[in-house]
Amino acid sequence: MKLAAEVITLKTKHPFVIARGGDEDYRVVWVRLTDGDGIEGWGEADPSRYYGETADTVLAVLKRLEPHLPRDAFDLEGAEAKFAEAVPRNGAARAALSAALHDLVGKRLGQPVWRLWGLDPARAPRSSFTIGLDTPEKMRQKVAEASGYPILKIKLGTERDEQILRTIRDATDKPIRVDANAGWTRERAIQMLPILKEYGVEFVEQPLPPDDLEGIAAVRRRGVLPVVVDESCIVATDIPRLAGVVDGINIKLAKCGSLREALRMISTARAHGMLVMVGCMIESSLGITAAAHFTPLVDAADLDGAALTANDPFVGATIDGGQIRLPTGPGLGVRRRE
Ligand code: MG
Repeated sequence: MKLAAEVITLKTKHPFVIARGGDEDYRVVWVRLTDGDGIEGWGEADPSRYYGETADTVLAVLKRLEPHLPRDAFDLEGAEAKFAEAVPRNGAARAALSAALHDLVGKRLGQPVWRLWGLDPARAPRSSFTIGLDTPEKMRQKVAEASGYPILKIKLGTERDEQILRTIRDATDKPIRVDANAGWTRERAIQMLPILKEYGVEFVEQPLPPDDLEGIAAVRRRGVLPVVVDESCIVATDIPRLAGVVDGINIKLAKCGSLREALRMISTARAHGMLVMVGCMIESSLGITAAAHFTPLVDAADLDGAALTANDPFVGATIDGGQIRLPTGPGLGVRRRE
């Protein structure tokens, strides 16, 4: 099996700002695995500095993982276990290889990945579309540009959260979800809850820093809004300690490191009666599509990463009109944009 990796710089339509800051350029890594018969499997690494990864660390990690590539692409469980053993962190780098192997297996069998998993693509939920932090005027403009999306996700965790909510609410009556990206203190989160409720927010994501589970549990105990965690939940083994603390988890391939780990997270969360959401980084349609294949199993999706970009080089799953539509081609079903 041969590995090739190429850095792609994605540009967002607007600077994408959250509580921790923002950027306009996002360097992702396109990974291609070629088997002995010349069949190619594709995957994408979408590194986040917050989790200690950049395009450069991804390239370095791929070099370290190359000797652990399986002889047989169908040995998915074994391959992913070896990758995780060799490089326990670096989820984005490992997720690219996992996606590429799944793509390869699907292409060899002539079936889309969702079909190999026995899923019904009609069960994929609608995706929210994120409005990043900006001036009131720019945020009104972004809401207008998002007219085709039925659910909005608002980034908060600032000094002017009430103003942001008011700006969005004055511009639209769509369902709103809020992500504080760990930007609040306990006091601030509890103060914000009735305000969020008043503005018709459906649920709140990651109100407090990832390790403050006691605080997050206290926010949830207020019983005002469901609480979902993202930064507090990386892999399936994080989930049991979150039971009774939160209502749900947000899965991202760049955090959990593989498609099979994402499926384990869904099963583990379900066993604990939790809601399951799937999210993303700023990604091309190649990265988004890998996650889209398991969306028939989740309650909520925020797979807008490619829709936020201005130069997506791939065509795959789409969220036109908000509805996630899975490709029907074999493997991930992704091709290069003409
Ligand atoms: Mg989040």
